Amino acid sequence: MEGWFQKQNRISMKCQICKNGETLPGKVTITLEKNNSLVVLKDVPALVCNNCGDYYLDAVTTQMVLNKAEDAVLKGAEVEIIRMKMAG
Ligand SMILES: [Zn+2]
Repeated sequence: MEGWFQKQNRISMKCQICKNGETLPGKVTITLEKNNSLVVLKDVPALVCNNCGDYYLDAVTTQMVLNKAEDAVLKGAEVEIIRMKMAG
């Protein structure tokens, strides 16, 4: 089940922004805008700071988010709302 997620969970990461909080696995909503398209991605797995709320995506998730956003832009969608379904 969600192999990378559990791996990340074991490492207690200090937040790079506020230097106080710890980043814990959670889900975030990401909004991207390109050309005339607004893409909203929900339920994106991320490491979320418990202090300032800033979040980090791993490389695989970042690529998935960008791919989905790019699809919407290519379709010419003005507003696209995508709920991420992660494997596992
Ligand atoms: Zn923080």
